[in-house]
Amino acid sequence: MVVWKSPHPDLEDIPEDLTTWQWAFEHPQHSPVVYAPRDDLGSYVNAITKERLDFIDVKEKATYLSTALVHEYGLQPRDTVSLFSTNSIWYPVAMWAAVRAGGRVNGASPAYNVDEMAYALSTASTKILFTQSSSLDVAVAAAEQVGLPRSNIFLLEGAGKNGFKSLQDLIALGADMTASPPYSIPSGQSNKDICGYLNFSSGTTGRAKAVMLSHHNIIAQCHQLRQVQLVSPGQRYRIMAVMPLFHITGLVRFCHYPVFMNGDGVMLPSFTMDSMLQTIVEYEIEELILVPPIIIRVVRDAVVDKYMPDLQRIVKRWSSGSAPIAPEIIQLLQKKFPNTGFRQGYGATESTACISCHPPTHYDYKYAHTAGLACANTFLKVIDLDNPATELGPGATGEICAKGPQIAMGYLSNPIATAETFKDGWLHTGDVGHIDADGLIHIEDRIKEMIKVKGQQVPPAELEDLLLGHEMVEDCAVLGMPDVYAGERPKAYVVLKQGVKESEEVGRALLRFVKEKKVRYKWITEIEFTDAIPKSPTGKLLRRVLKARDREE
Ligand code: AMP
Repeated sequence: MVVWKSPHPDLEDIPEDLTTWQWAFEHPQHSPVVYAPRDDLGSYVNAITKERLDFIDVKEKATYLSTALVHEYGLQPRDTVSLFSTNSIWYPVAMWAAVRAGGRVNGASPAYNVDEMAYALSTASTKILFTQSSSLDVAVAAAEQVGLPRSNIFLLEGAGKNGFKSLQDLIALGADMTASPPYSIPSGQSNKDICGYLNFSSGTTGRAKAVMLSHHNIIAQCHQLRQVQLVSPGQRYRIMAVMPLFHITGLVRFCHYPVFMNGDGVMLPSFTMDSMLQTIVEYEIEELILVPPIIIRVVRDAVVDKYMPDLQRIVKRWSSGSAPIAPEIIQLLQKKFPNTGFRQGYGATESTACISCHPPTHYDYKYAHTAGLACANTFLKVIDLDNPATELGPGATGEICAKGPQIAMGYLSNPIATAETFKDGWLHTGDVGHIDADGLIHIEDRIKEMIKVKGQQVPPAELEDLLLGHEMVEDCAVLGMPDVYAGERPKAYVVLKQGVKESEEVGRALLRFVKEKKVRYKWITEIEFTDAIPKSPTGKLLRRVLKARDREE
């Protein structure tokens, strides 16, 4: 067996008996609200309005909210609470309230349209839905489609309106009630057995599925990240939440990790380069967790010059994840910020974010093209693409597999996909790469279907299902094409129905059709008409054949 073990010392103290709530808010060793004086407590802060909740506020408000949801709305352990909103300091309050009651927290992209949101609600079996004013119409229409009562929809921020109660209304309600007891791990079980989070991922194939993350997954990942975290002496740990909270990185890094680190989670409700750069300077954020398209803008946009030399003084390190980053961009970044370090985080929703990242010994740009070293307590193997039973040695390219405390429980109500992706505790990532003699991971390609546009998942099966429903389309396949800025963009190969003639107008009509039905990052940018889609004898779409054909062309 060729298996790599993390080079980091094993972490022995990852709790197995605590829920994330108990770990974050009730434990003498792990919870800052217990061990730190109030004037030294971290917080969630709104970067724009400056509204701030320290972790005692968060604990108190989440307790009231949880109590109201349990007593008044019948929230039970294992019920799903969905959060359909842009980044907000109230997002983690709702999240903590749900896990305190033993519920399962599910994040959904605020850009979803009605059909996408209805799919999300039914896939996650949502019982309670929090949303924001600007998404309320979509939320209500989607809830109606799946039979979720209007009375279970709440506004995350501001006052209630049009008969919808707000999170603040619920906090006020709960404050007058006897607090419900926090959920605890049933005897005979551990926190590895209890799912507390459902995050969407299309995984290897098909449409988005709800990844079941246990309380242990989240706690373990935070412990793994802290082991390789550098904070300047005398500095409070501060992180800026530019990436969305509904994504796994946001859930771990911006909702949980700040509490564990007793740091500040600075939430950016909406992204502009100016607001991001201003926030970095104002809050002196020394490590930036970004996706490649934003790093591209950092090296290219003229607006960045406005914030120099402050940025050069403040930023100690750039961290990139969620998608590959081009070597040219890394070079430009180093040139612009020669005194900074660079790290990557590599992983997936199915690994609660990081399988690997760069520890402080590897912040140097000379390692930047790699995905770093396996996190503590994590094992890796690389399997042959054609003979999965064959494990490959250093330098040989195959599918990366990972095992460790951060590997998810499986997909909700989907035993087939679970069995395909999680085998004997090993996550089959669907990523192709190799591990070098120093244990550094190199990601080279992706064999899973997933397309990544600006770090966001676009499941091709979803677009194919849509196109197949169009009256002019006989057959189709969607692939990700390389794109300098977005990383990839979806391209469709289309076989037209008999009698329909290929023309630019037909192509435009199909592009319009997708635009009307799907959120922007899923829009198809190119259509190629073809006579047939390559299929296996059993009718399975042969993406690799199509991709190879496209590369040749
Ligand atoms: P998600 O579940 O949305 O986080 O997507 C996970 C996928 O994103 C991985 O399986 C990879 O294909 C890709 N990915 C994540 N991090 C990196 C990275 N540092 N380099 C290359 N690809 C990455």
